Amino acid sequence: MTVAIGIDGRCTGCGMCIATCPERALWPGPKRPLADVDVCTVCMACVEVCPVDAIAVTGHSGLDGLAGSR
Ligand code: SF4
Ligand code: SF4
Repeated sequence: MTVAIGIDGRCTGCGMCIATCPERALWPGPKRPLADVDVCTVCMACVEVCPVDAIAVTGHSGLDGLAGSR
């Protein structure tokens, strides 16, 4: 099971998570940021910085708003 972060529909697209990610695992997507699960270390920095609590740690990589190469 891939542990990664997921971004839900509360996202306003403010971009703070993208600017905060130390691994540069996030980038702008069509609706909300996308995360590279191969790069993300689940450091929780984006979870803490999101003003609307749209980011959560997920147990798999299949959620909308979460992109990976696998
Ligand atoms: S910080 Fe939260 S609201 Fe802002 S772009 Fe990231 S997920 Fe969306
Ligand atoms: S948990 Fe950390 S490494 Fe993963 S996307 Fe968020 S800020 Fe980046």
